[in-house]
This record gives sequence, structure tokens and C-alpha cells, in this order.
Amino acid sequence: MSTLRFQALKKSLNRKPIEVKEPHRRSEIFGKNVFNEMAMRQYLTKDSYKSVMDAVQHGSKINRDLADHISTGMKEWAISKGATHYTHWFQPLTGSTAEKHDAFFETTGNGSAIEKFGGGSLVQQEPDASSFPNGGIRNTFEARGYTAWDPTSPAFILGTTLCIPTVFVSYTGEALDYKVPLLRSLQALDGAATEVAKYFDKKVTKVNATLGWEQEYFLVDAALAASRPDLVMAERTLLGHAPAKGQQLDDHYFGSIPTRALNFMRELENECMLLGIPVKTRHNEVAPNQFELAPIFEEVNLAVDHNLLLMDVMDKVAERHHLKVLFHEKPFAGVNGSGKHNNWSLSTDTGVNLLGPGSTPMKNLQFLTFFVNTIKAVYDNEELIRSSIASASNDHRLGANEAPPAIISVFIGSQLTKALDELEKVTDGKLSPQEKTDLKLNVVGKIPEILLDNTDRNRTSPFAFTGNKFEFRAVGSTANCSNPMTILNAIVAKQLQEFKVEVDKLIKDKKMKKDDAIFNVLREYIKKSKKIRFEGDGYGEAWEKEAKKRGLSNNKKTPEALKVKKADKTIKLFEELGVMNRVEMEARHEIEVEEYSMHIQIEGRILGDIARNHVIPTSIRYQNILIKNVQGLKDIYGDDFKKHASEQLSIIEEISNHIEKINKGITEMIDARRQANKIEDTEEKAFAYCDEVRPYFDEIRYHCDKLEILVDDELWPLAKYREMLFN
Ligand code: ADP
Ligand code: MG
Repeated sequence: MSTLRFQALKKSLNRKPIEVKEPHRRSEIFGKNVFNEMAMRQYLTKDSYKSVMDAVQHGSKINRDLADHISTGMKEWAISKGATHYTHWFQPLTGSTAEKHDAFFETTGNGSAIEKFGGGSLVQQEPDASSFPNGGIRNTFEARGYTAWDPTSPAFILGTTLCIPTVFVSYTGEALDYKVPLLRSLQALDGAATEVAKYFDKKVTKVNATLGWEQEYFLVDAALAASRPDLVMAERTLLGHAPAKGQQLDDHYFGSIPTRALNFMRELENECMLLGIPVKTRHNEVAPNQFELAPIFEEVNLAVDHNLLLMDVMDKVAERHHLKVLFHEKPFAGVNGSGKHNNWSLSTDTGVNLLGPGSTPMKNLQFLTFFVNTIKAVYDNEELIRSSIASASNDHRLGANEAPPAIISVFIGSQLTKALDELEKVTDGKLSPQEKTDLKLNVVGKIPEILLDNTDRNRTSPFAFTGNKFEFRAVGSTANCSNPMTILNAIVAKQLQEFKVEVDKLIKDKKMKKDDAIFNVLREYIKKSKKIRFEGDGYGEAWEKEAKKRGLSNNKKTPEALKVKKADKTIKLFEELGVMNRVEMEARHEIEVEEYSMHIQIEGRILGDIARNHVIPTSIRYQNILIKNVQGLKDIYGDDFKKHASEQLSIIEEISNHIEKINKGITEMIDARRQANKIEDTEEKAFAYCDEVRPYFDEIRYHCDKLEILVDDELWPLAKYREMLFN
């Protein structure tokens, strides 16, 4: 009997739900482990507090003397909460977060010690960063990277460590992380959106982008997961036969949550409360053992940090519940994958959601302005948007026949489609008073204030308008949201800048009234960007054909999708906005294609190992049992044995056949890897991994999965799909 799998099965079947202590009210513990405004008021002097708030609200610099005061206050607060260490918490380009812990503790030289944490430690740190990917930036400039405090995301305590959210830059100021470009894109967007918002309300002085992510994930029993080297090392199953029952019955979705999973969620939510992550909804997803969790939306930078922190906390809490969280976009073949919908909107410092329809025609014109500009930005940059979510793991969703597809389109619903169709007919030039009144009354004024309850909602569009926000759904469940958010912010910023220039020009040159000018520019945008709008729900071949006719890109695989990131047009856009320079952009592209190759390389190795070390030996063992059986039959029946052994003989042959194919596949795959590794150019290498190495995965897997159903269940060493998905 295969020990590991059966031990794991026994363990998983004997598990009792882990008890969770709940606070009386969640609000009581919300933000308790965060150095938030309340804590700052208590631990900082008035000057220090004001300087932090100024930095948060207006991006002003914090001077060194005050930094010393702030760090002292922060340290006292942290120690009062039981912290012993501090770390600069940052987002290197590996996609996860990094920390280097230092103790507050320092000796004073006379044999005693104190707890120390000066302004220098708060504002700047030099982690030993040589092993983080940097795409050559640091070699070109200076071999050091620095982390520096980002006051717009508050410090928090995790375990006994004070975590200080920081940016990570090279000595010469190039971004080595995801946060710096995100912050710059938010600044660009704020500038552009504020200018446009002023057409409608002079009092607006700041626009924040907001993000509410929805995190999908799978939970698998920890022991079962540990019995699978592919889950341990690649976070997805590289082989495994589909279970007899999958998700066809749809009985998991919004069904009752199993107790073990529920207790995990309850503890997780308590941890989130302490950390100030405003999680709000939880439910089952479509696939068995698949779940989703979503917070109340926040300002983008904070929301991104909270999502990264959440993923970290999920791993830790799951351990206590003997579960493993799978964030991978496609952990199981043939079962729905996981995404991370990014709900995105714009909100003014006067409290208005710029993508929310309003109660008056003027407010609705404001809504339409931001709505149409976003659609236009996505249309003009659809390939770039696609590139922002490209990764080896997300290819399994976007490239496969699973929604959302690799083609970016925008869904807006029939009501808004009708409104845009009307606006397309607006007269060129100045509008007659009659037409304007008519428009305001019958088109703009007719957009209902509440589109949210609109039943005509599409669940699978990659980029959908959902009442008062856009929902970027093609983002992968493992992704750091910074990357797609940076690109979305940047292209909308650029678009709004252009819009402002065009409207102002009509006002100045053509002496148009402001709203005439706005109508005129919007009309052109609506016409120009029409091709990106797609209201259909099916994404098969018909849509691919149609999209091709429309000139939309359909980059199914990552190396192809990433190309546009280093195109001159893209670099120009980012340079103009001050979001990234050429060096930073090219470095990122380099890192991303390299990461792709490594990803495929690792998966290939794991698959080869499992197939050769687990699948083939097990199959041979079973084949030997059959051979013995056949020999026994021959002993009893003599020449007549074939009558009784024909099935066994055919299984013996089938096994040999599959083994041969697997072995051949692995040998050829290794060869293809060797060839790929010889390629110097990182992009070319990624293409080789994609086109020459990856195709072997399916081939090898196919034969392994066939063996899984041939071989005696008692012998099979790897936890099966039905066990992982239904236990
Ligand atoms: P669903 O998409 O399942 O219908 P909801 O409409 O309730 O769910 O919202 C999903 C996510 O959208 C939540 O995280 C919510 O906080 C977020 N959201 C709602 N309004 C905004 C907004 N103005 N900006 C950004 N995110 C938002
Ligand atoms: Mg959603």
C-alpha cells in the first residue's frame, strides 16, 4: 500500500474542525495592530502627527528631526503591543513580499542594552538585496538597493514584528519594486483626473483611485497536499485524472461552507480585522473546495498592500487549520480556475465616485466623461492591458477556453450602450439649445442613478462596468495587483490629459461652451473606441474571429503578451507620465520573461520527476502483479490460459505502451530544455520554453492520467483529484 497517500488520507478523514475564538464585535478589534491615525495621535507629538498626515494627503516630505520623533513613537507603540523586531516590508519584483527582521534591541556599550529604533532606521534601510531580481538595473548603476518608508500605507504588527511598508529603489532612484511605479501612476492619475473633475466641480483638489479586489482560492487538506510534490513545489497539479463528479452539478456555489473551511475563514477574518483589512464577504466559488473573499474597497496603494498581506496571513492561518491555500490560477485541470477581480474606480476629495451615475444631468455628464475616457483608454491600450496580467500561471486561464479570454473587451450593459449610441449622434460643433436640452433630459438624464441592481450583468467579461466601477476580471489570483493597477492608472491618466487638451482647445478656438465641447469630444471617443465593446457572453472561436476582424490582439501566451511592454510607444507613454523610464521598463520586461522561463523549467522538472519516480515505478509494480497472475493462470490452465488472461494481457500491454510514451516525452522534453537553456537572449529563451518545452506537459500528463485509472488504487502514490477536491 502506498504509505504517504494513505497516511494523508487517514489524517484528513480524522480531522476535527479547529475551534476559533471570536471577539464580541469585530469593530472592537478593527485596526488594533495598525499604527493608524488613532495610534499616531496617542504616540506622536502634534508636529510629528501633522507631518505624517501631510505626507499621506499631499505627498510632502518628512524632515529628518521629525522622522526621529516618529520612529520613537512608532517603536513605543509597537513595544506596547509586544513587538520585539521591526522590518521594512517591500514588494520586490518576484511578486511576493520580502522582509528582513532587525531587533529593536541594541547594546549601549557599558554592558547594558536599550530598545532603539531611530529615524534613520525608519526612513532608510539597505537590505542585502543582491538576490532580488533587478533586470540589470543594479549592475548598470550601483550594486545597492534601498528601502524607504511609504507613509501612505500604515505600519502594522504581524506576530511580534513591526512591519513598515516601504518602497525599494536602487541607489540612483530606479524602482526595483512594484510599489514605486504604482505610487507614481496614482500621482499622474490624480493630477489628470482632478483637472477634468474641475470642469464639473471647482472644489475638487484631489482624486484617489480605489480598488476592491476579490480573492479566489482553493483549500486542500495539508496532508493530502503534502503527498503531492507538484502541489508542494508548483502550487498546481501537473497530473491527475478528473474525478467522476466535478462541478457539473453547480452544488458548491453559494452552498453552505464546510465547517473546517468556515473556521479557517473566521480566524482569517479576525486576523484581518486586527490588521485593518476590511474583509466583508466570503462564499463558496464554482468549483469544489474553491472560495472567495472580498474586502470593502480602499485607496489603491493601501488595497494592494492589504491584498499582499492577506495572502501572507492566509498561508499562516491555513497552517493552523491543517489546510493548504492554493492561490494558483489553475491548480486542477478541468475544474474552474481562480482569478482576482480588480474593482476600480475614482473618487474625489469631495466624496464623489466619478464612475457613479448621479442624480442630475450635470452629474451624469461627469460620470459619462470618466466612463467614456476609461473605455477609450482601454481600447487604445488593449494590448498593454493584456500584458499587465500576463504570467505563466495565468496563461492557463486566459489562453485556454475559459473565461475571461486573452482578448480584452469591455462590457457595459444594454442601458449604457443605448446612451452611448445616442451620444454618438450628437451634432458636430455647437449644439442648439433644443438639442442640448433634449440630450440632457432624454439621454444623459435618463441614466439611472442606480445601475447596480441592473440584472443585465455579464459574469465573464475581462473588463466589465458594474454599476459604479470597472471590474478588471482577467487579473490572476496569484498576481500582485500593483502591476495591472499601475498600467490602468497610467493609461487613464494619459487619456484624461488628452481629453482636457481637446476640450480646452474647442472652448478656446471654436468658442464653444464647456458642455458643447465635452459632448463633441466624447462623441468622437465613443465612435473611435466602439470596437472594444463586446456585450456577448460567449468567448469561443466565433469571438476570436470577430475580435481579429476588429483588430483586437489575442495574445494567448505570456512571452507574446509581454512584448508590448518594451515597445517604444509604451515606453514613451510611461516616460511622459513620469511613471517609469526606459531602463525601468526594459528591466521589468527582462525580469518577467526570465521568470516565465524559470517557471516552465521548474514545472518541467517536477513533472519529469513525478512521472519517472512515482508514476512509472508504480505502474511497473502493478504490471508485475498482473504478470504473476498471468503466469499463475498459465500454470493452472496450460495452453488454455489466454482465455482467462486476455484482459490482464491487454492491460499489461497498455501499461507498457503508456510508460514508453511517458519516457519518450520526458527525454524529448529534457532535450528541448537543454536547447532552450543555450539561448542567450532572455526573450527568445522564453519563447523557446513556451513553444518547444511546454507542449510536452500535456502529452506526458495524458499518459500519466491514463495510468492512474489503470493501476490499482491501493498502489497509487499521489492523492487523487476526488480526494483533494471533496475531502
Ligand atoms: P460582486 O462583484 O460580487 O457583485 P460587489 O459589487 O459587492 O460584488 O463588489 C465587489 C467588490 O467591489 C468589493 O470588494 C467592493 O468593495 C468593490 N467596490 C465597490 N465599489 C467600489 C468602488 N467605488 N471602487 C472600487 N471598488 C469598489
Ligand atoms: Mg466580481
